[in-house]
Amino acid sequence: MKLTIVGCTGSFPGPGSPASCYLLTANDGERQWKIVMDLGSGALGAIQRYTDLEDIDAIFLTHLHPDHCMDLCGLHVAVRWKPGGWGRDRIPVWGPAATADRMATAYGLELDPGMHEEFDFSNWSERQSVQLGPFTVTPYAVNHPVEEAYALRVEVTEPDKEGKAVSRILTYSGDTDSCQGLEDAARNADLFLCEAAFEEGRDDDIKDVHLTGKRAGQAATAAGARRLLLTHIPVWTSQTKVMAEARPEFAGDVAVAVAGVHYTV
Ligand SMILES: [Zn+2]
Ligand SMILES: [Zn+2]
Repeated sequence: MKLTIVGCTGSFPGPGSPASCYLLTANDGERQWKIVMDLGSGALGAIQRYTDLEDIDAIFLTHLHPDHCMDLCGLHVAVRWKPGGWGRDRIPVWGPAATADRMATAYGLELDPGMHEEFDFSNWSERQSVQLGPFTVTPYAVNHPVEEAYALRVEVTEPDKEGKAVSRILTYSGDTDSCQGLEDAARNADLFLCEAAFEEGRDDDIKDVHLTGKRAGQAATAAGARRLLLTHIPVWTSQTKVMAEARPEFAGDVAVAVAGVHYTV
């Protein structure tokens, strides 16, 4: 599968990147499928560099902080008001139970119909997989101060160049501090896209919100992940520092996510 980093700045957009948004592309042998994990502040503009909005097959939200979901407001306008009409059915959106009402409220819409005519909302059930084309997406509850927050484990089986089926696992932490759910989600992942919003020494008093680079590295080791890609780094956190924290904790490759870069998993 291909991962495109649409936005990776933590907590709010930075000068070089929108907030959280990741585009995944994979082939089921018949066509290419595209799913989006989180659509945070600023991401709707940048994602159009990589895909037509009408080609998005589904959207998966980790939680309802604005830096992970707020650009659904703009996408709702794109679907509703496209001259000539939107060329596809409603876009499937998986998220916490409050997603539909939260988005309607954010836009100032009545809850009924809210955005139900543009999006087909479904609620996550913990550790219950959702299947879409070549993607199997499983939410794991994680440790972040909102009603529902999930890490997403994405499993893909697609044909290689010779037509042989190849399976890969990508795990995205969403926002979380250390927890068992995160480790279970990232078990044996080929790529662990993991947040590292906090710095050791500076943010030690804030519990159950975010990981440091050190704690991200420990989670990657505990999970047996193969590669670690640190993300959700806010403007006030040093990329160099979180990477230096992670390296001694994890024997595999460690890098920092960069907006606009593609990774093959
Ligand atoms: Zn966040
Ligand atoms: Zn959050």
